[in-house]
Amino acid sequence: MRLLCTNDDGILAHGLDCLVKSAEMLGDVTVVAPDREQSATSHSLTLHHPIRPVARGEKRWQVDGTPTDCVMLAIEALMPERPDFVLSGINHGQNMGEDVLYSGTVAAAMEGVTLGVPAIAMSFAGGELKADPALLTDQIPAVAALLKHLTTLSMPSDTLLNVNMPARPAADIRGVRLTRLGRRVYSESLMKMQDPRKREIYWIGGGSASWSGAADSDFRAVEDGFISVTPLTLDLTHLRMLDEAKLWWSEP
Ligand SMILES: [Mg+2]
Repeated sequence: MRLLCTNDDGILAHGLDCLVKSAEMLGDVTVVAPDREQSATSHSLTLHHPIRPVARGEKRWQVDGTPTDCVMLAIEALMPERPDFVLSGINHGQNMGEDVLYSGTVAAAMEGVTLGVPAIAMSFAGGELKADPALLTDQIPAVAALLKHLTTLSMPSDTLLNVNMPARPAADIRGVRLTRLGRRVYSESLMKMQDPRKREIYWIGGGSASWSGAADSDFRAVEDGFISVTPLTLDLTHLRMLDEAKLWWSEP
């Protein structure tokens, strides 16, 4: 199996290292990853300047671009043969609920699916891994076992799997749950402050976040100590709404 590994935390991230070590138990791994952190860049593509791949060893590339750039470059140019799977992560921090709309980790997987390659996005709900990187390192065998299973599933063509792992020791993980997206509620995420010259500035990303979600949501699974697996589709069409609209819609 040919596996393309990428992420949005940058090529030096511990989470990517753990993903690569897990993937190497399953197949032939190529890494194409951003040269710096690209979290929350979503599905952005670099159009206004060239991107340069720099070799960091055999089948290892860093790119001065976004996660989406990396996947496109890998599949269309750098890999002699198309990968069987795109694996993105392991993100330093959860990607649940509305997070998936901002996440570079999830977008990299989406780009794989867009280019016709099945993909899995993986995130670790432990926030900043630097505090305890061993917590994730210990999960490498479990990640490899999970990926081994997930890569045998026959998924619909426009689907990716969004995996979130709870921040607890590997031995305390209770299992795997198939979930749906929950809802994240941010409060005071925009912080007003002053620059050194006393000018008004704003910084996005502060405040706190809570969540709501049904019993089958990603948040609930992770809180209960399960690995959450959410199938996501690229088609954002609201199918039920489309059906209901037939009752009231009329041509303008
Ligand atoms: Mg990230």
